[in-house]
Amino acid sequence: MNYLKFDEMNLSQEALHAISDMGFEEATPIQSQSIEIIMSGRDVIGQSQTGTGKTAAFGIPLLEKINQYDKHLQAVILCPTRELAIQISEEFRKLLKYRDNIKVIPIYGGQPIDRQIIALRKGAQVIIGTPGRVMDHMNRRTLKMETVQFVVLDEADEMLDMGFRDDIETILDKVPTNRQTMLFSATMPREILDLTKRYQKEPAHVMVVHKELTVPSIDQVYFEVKEKIKLDALCRLIDMDNPSLSLIFCNTKKLVDELVEQLQGRGYFAEGLHGDMKQSQRDLVMKKFRNRTIEILVATDVAARGIDVDDIDIVFNYDIPQDEEYYIHRIGRTGRAGKSGRAYTFVVGKEIYKLREIMKLTKAKIFQKKLPSLGDIEENKTRHFVDKIKSVIEDGHLTKYVNIVESMITEDYSALDIAAALMKHNLYDADAEEIDQEIEELEKQKFQPRRRDVDENMVRLFITIGKKDKVKPNDIVGAVAGETGVPGRVIGHIDIFEEFTFVDVPKDYVKDIITGMKNKKIKGKKINIERAKKK
Ligand code: ADP
Ligand code: MG
Repeated sequence: MNYLKFDEMNLSQEALHAISDMGFEEATPIQSQSIEIIMSGRDVIGQSQTGTGKTAAFGIPLLEKINQYDKHLQAVILCPTRELAIQISEEFRKLLKYRDNIKVIPIYGGQPIDRQIIALRKGAQVIIGTPGRVMDHMNRRTLKMETVQFVVLDEADEMLDMGFRDDIETILDKVPTNRQTMLFSATMPREILDLTKRYQKEPAHVMVVHKELTVPSIDQVYFEVKEKIKLDALCRLIDMDNPSLSLIFCNTKKLVDELVEQLQGRGYFAEGLHGDMKQSQRDLVMKKFRNRTIEILVATDVAARGIDVDDIDIVFNYDIPQDEEYYIHRIGRTGRAGKSGRAYTFVVGKEIYKLREIMKLTKAKIFQKKLPSLGDIEENKTRHFVDKIKSVIEDGHLTKYVNIVESMITEDYSALDIAAALMKHNLYDADAEEIDQEIEELEKQKFQPRRRDVDENMVRLFITIGKKDKVKPNDIVGAVAGETGVPGRVIGHIDIFEEFTFVDVPKDYVKDIITGMKNKKIKGKKINIERAKKK
């Protein structure tokens, strides 16, 4: 795979500057392949796994093409959920950091429509929305498609799964045909290919294919952590395993710099390596790492490519890598020259799906482990401390301190209490206790139930629409997602009867769904929705 640098791609200085501020060092495979094609004006079908940077793959070239002096609507991005609409508009705003007068607005169900109408009236060149809401605005003429030149269908497979096909087609039919149309998706079912045939002009297919990869035989472990305890988790593992050399991977330059600062702040001998550093600086860091003046090297994927150090004990994936090739490259840095190596990967929340994808594609066996507990660390620390004290006693020269203890004893403290207090003062770590509680809590938590799983976290809702209205499960999922922004995939079992329907939804979403769906229409019929009565 050829990973391009962004500055090889004929982008504006403003874009390059913004991308660099976001900490991206080089383009991911899907970005390397699609950015220039989109820049050239061609329609594109892009396919790659989740988490591979599809947003920037279309966002970077699209925003380059927006004319800031033209206040009309120029680009429409359709995506399946409210979360995604917000996420994309946030990424767009970062990409637009050095450009003025380009307005991006997310448009989704669940937000008062009046507020959106006011925002739209002020003018926006780019909107990012869920199909239902965009249709709604089109019908009210608060969104006019006549000037649109670019359309992106993001997560097209997910949108079709949620029953948005008709809406998407209605929208596309309203956009002038001399537009550029881009479609991105993790999978390419038949239905999507149908859509592209009807709505795209000789699209370029960009697909990120997966190579056969062999995993070196090293111990691979993952830890489920919360974002805010990552640093503590890392320090714990380092303290516990005591590696003489470790290499830590972060996904961006910015994260490298931040982590280095935090580690140094805690007294670790750590330094960073990334693409923004001059060659001479990098050489210096590498020299220090080789002769062990530093024990921890924090790096991006790009910077680490040149590293040839044989005895790295542990590779940490502080951020889970963007794709499986990176994973293999990263962990291949340990266990070299016949030594045993370890690879530790942190997984936060939904990243577990990315990890599973990595395991599937590489056939790697990555086992879950618990973080070392406070007890484990304390035991370790105590042992070290006690050894230390013994050697201090053996070294002697303690008169000055003996005097202090004696004066305390005359104040009625016992020698035993004084020694114990000193131990506690040195060993007790209040933060660690808090982190322990976090870990325990995390272990208790279960994952969000996936679609069609029934369990006690789900609540059954009753909707006044049924078979006689020709309603299908996708209509229900589509309407709920479109009107309320609740992601379609969390919706559980759907039972459609003649006159009414039962839908299982996670209990955290019940209020949003009931208020969001009140008096809304599904398949043109005004519905009522409430909690189902217990049998
Ligand atoms: P997808 O749409 O393919 O699921 P996203 O566009 O949401 O993936 O990107 C996933 C993450 O990767 C985001 O946090 C994004 O900021 C980050 N990212 C995207 N491109 C790069 C890059 N070139 N280098 C580093 N991180 C990147
Ligand atoms: Mg995406």
